[in-house]
Amino acid sequence: MKPYSFSDILNKWSSDLIQEIYEGINEDKILHALENDSLSIEDLIALLSPKAVPFLEKMAQKANQLTRWHFGRTISLYTPIYLSNLCASDCVYCYFASHSGIREKRVTLTEEQIREECIELSKKGIQTVLLLTGDAPNRVPVEYIEQAVRIAKEYFKSVNVEVYSMDEAHYAQLAHAGTEGVTLYMETYDKDTYDKVHLSGKKKDYLYRLDALERAGRTGIRRLTCGVLLGLSDWRFDVVWLALHAKYLEKTCWQSVISLSFPRLKHTPPRFKVPHLVNLEKLVQIITAMRLFLPYSPFNLSTRESAEVRDHLIPLGITSMSAGSSTRPGGYKVYQDTTTSQRPVLEQFEIDDHRTVEEVVSAIKAQGYDPVWVDFEPGFIKSL
Ligand code: SF4
Repeated sequence: MKPYSFSDILNKWSSDLIQEIYEGINEDKILHALENDSLSIEDLIALLSPKAVPFLEKMAQKANQLTRWHFGRTISLYTPIYLSNLCASDCVYCYFASHSGIREKRVTLTEEQIREECIELSKKGIQTVLLLTGDAPNRVPVEYIEQAVRIAKEYFKSVNVEVYSMDEAHYAQLAHAGTEGVTLYMETYDKDTYDKVHLSGKKKDYLYRLDALERAGRTGIRRLTCGVLLGLSDWRFDVVWLALHAKYLEKTCWQSVISLSFPRLKHTPPRFKVPHLVNLEKLVQIITAMRLFLPYSPFNLSTRESAEVRDHLIPLGITSMSAGSSTRPGGYKVYQDTTTSQRPVLEQFEIDDHRTVEEVVSAIKAQGYDPVWVDFEPGFIKSL
């Protein structure tokens, strides 16, 4: 018999079935979902439905209460380090895409340059980093990423990666080098949209990407982060599939923490216009509904959002934020000064929160929350 996989679950939860449930949502079902402590997928759909918009205030209050219970008044901080902007895949929404039409400089940091970036960031007090690359395994092989993890481990307590999907043996290599977490967004679970926006390259393989986090989880990676790129497809379906994926990973990768991100697509290359823009009200509905469905999961919010939006969302379920970010390889030291360079180094997307690490820390404290520089100590497990 074919082994059980997440694609079996996706097949069961077709868009037709989800649409049918949305059409049957009424006020009683929304109130039932709000009163329930353990939500079913049908409850989640009730909270994501257009009819739940008048209940947003109640959802926000409950999301705040649940987050306080499970995480206290804490916000974990991390900073991305882009290692390379080379990419052999062609995703229409991304500036790094092989055919994005953007002529800015493509670079891959040398070991010495990675070290310079790490030193610069560690001076700011950062202890958790996320290493990123494009999808270019021939030019930026797993061995390079593995070495980057080893270098970063010399400077930071927690090193995580957001790189191309890979085989289990390669994830094991990264785990062995000290990688704590793997972030990998499906971008969209809608297969038709996925095929349309991923024109070529390895990322075009939908099923290989769909199972990637599970492969990473099998190697003992402690934190798995999933997400969809809000705006690519109809979020009322994608968010339900994301919730199903998170639940599936909770069961199959029970030794890992399953966290979620809510990246909202806003700035795209000229060749692509965001087809399903998600406004702030919808983002609040998504985050609060998901907090009620997944009360224990860490939720991240990156600098894709403005300072104002991020500050507004802190009490509504967010538990982790990036700070002082650059989406350009070498953006902290090596290629920081783009004005003197003839051709600036290409960044992946424009960030909307330009505050320094210190400013983000102050904003978190101003709301009565404590910034957390590192939220896990591996030595604790070893000593048990
Ligand atoms: S999203 Fe990732 S794989 Fe796609 S073009 Fe951008 S960097 Fe490459």
